Amino acid sequence: MAWDFETEPEFEEKLAWMREFLVAEIFPLETLDLTYDQIAVVIKPLQEQVKERGLWAAHLPPELGGMGFGQVRLGLMHEILGQSPYGPVVFGSNAPDSGNAELLAVGMEMSGRTEHRAQWLEPLLAGSLRSGFSMTEPHTAGSDPTLLSTRAVLDGDEWVIDGRKWYTTNGSVADFFIVMAVTNPDVHPYQGSSMIIVPATTPGVTVLRDVGSMDDPTVTYGKFGNHAEILYESVRVPKDNLVGNEGDGFQLAQARLGPGRIHHCMRWLGQSQRAFDMMCERAVSRFTHGTLLSEKQTVQNWIADSMAEMHAARLMTLHAAWKMDKVGARAARVEIAMIKYFGAQVLYNVIDRSLQTYGSLGYSSDMPLEAMYRAARAARIYDGPDEVHRQTVARSMLKSYEPRETPTDHIPTRKAAAQEKFAAMLEFMAASEG
Ligand SMILES: Cc1cc2nc3c(=O)[nH]c(=O)nc-3n(C[C@H](O)[C@H](O)[C@H](O)COP(=O)(O)OP(=O)(O)OC[C@H]3O[C@@H](n4cnc5c(N)ncnc54)[C@H](O)[C@@H]3O)c2cc1C
Repeated sequence: MAWDFETEPEFEEKLAWMREFLVAEIFPLETLDLTYDQIAVVIKPLQEQVKERGLWAAHLPPELGGMGFGQVRLGLMHEILGQSPYGPVVFGSNAPDSGNAELLAVGMEMSGRTEHRAQWLEPLLAGSLRSGFSMTEPHTAGSDPTLLSTRAVLDGDEWVIDGRKWYTTNGSVADFFIVMAVTNPDVHPYQGSSMIIVPATTPGVTVLRDVGSMDDPTVTYGKFGNHAEILYESVRVPKDNLVGNEGDGFQLAQARLGPGRIHHCMRWLGQSQRAFDMMCERAVSRFTHGTLLSEKQTVQNWIADSMAEMHAARLMTLHAAWKMDKVGARAARVEIAMIKYFGAQVLYNVIDRSLQTYGSLGYSSDMPLEAMYRAARAARIYDGPDEVHRQTVARSMLKSYEPRETPTDHIPTRKAAAQEKFAAMLEFMAASEG
């Protein structure tokens, strides 16, 4: 019997250690209002412990210092890390650095060139460099990257890049960017786009601002986690700063986004579980209109629905991870798309119900729920808006259906066919009854 919902005991031990470590060492940091630089100092010894345990940057292949765990195990790890905004950074797997490290690794595999390893990848993994991923543009639809207008032209031994990007997460604190640009406008964008490494100090790179958002409406420039608007004007970088080969941009984006979505979804489940725990704790503590909240059917419905939705999202995500491990990201495309929109909605629903259970306290910043709620809203937009993923799933499902004038299940038509099929039997029964 191949169905198996268990985690092997040796790995379960690692997960148990992570759970305790997060609660004891990482949760308390959330309340201290530290700057990024202060956080970097405080978490150093914690990062050392993670390295000693062999859990640092676990998403990378073993030859690059990762553990070769596969997506199911990584998913289970991310479910724990997602409980705190500091979880991923302590474990060397915070976005966008983790995704960019994967891009560099996949790019080296595609091109066969290895010089990016020492210059960019290793310092990124060691945490001595920070990165940004510059794909989305303010004036073209990010949901359709075939519309990208940023151009990179080869001039001698250099790429010359011109374009405007925004929402480059960590753009104002990054040491380098991976920029997606059109390198050949004469072929389909799937073959004509590339990714290029651009050091932040290159002449022509201007970080215009950090964009205020629901996450941080009165944004302070230069904070870790901000989203920057960046102008690239006649930016010249060496030809070899190309990630992978010319024209590999879309393939690289797919390689980065597949596992990334599984990790996001599992981190969302970690967040959902925290919101769920808060909801249940409040339900058994708050008394109103003659009973505890836990005895009101509406609150019970919220708890039951949240539990069912989280369970469904978890099984769907782990199944997508399992399929990726078995047959690769391309074959798991539909499952990955499904968990993107399903998981984002579950996250939003559970936090919303939990916040409602707390009333004014939930709306206040004395509880983490209002911040979690604002962050959760973005999940329906980034990594591709939910509507695009729904479209992927629907299109794939529709492929196996043919148009028919008479519906296959039309009862009168089926009845006529059945009467013909069983005519002899029906005749015999009618005769014996008569
Ligand atoms: C918190 C956050 C962090 C981000 N970080 C980064 C980053 O580090 N680097 C980066 O490059 N980008 C980043 N982004 C940008 C993100 O990738 C884009 O916002 C996303 O791809 C959508 O593009 P858009 O905002 O241009 O929306 P648009 O493409 O303009 O889409 C707007 C809306 O149109 C609808 N829509 C689009 N297509 C369809 C369709 N086919 N069917 C039905 N409806 C549709 C959807 O409702 C969608 O929300 C980030 C975004 C957020 C919110």
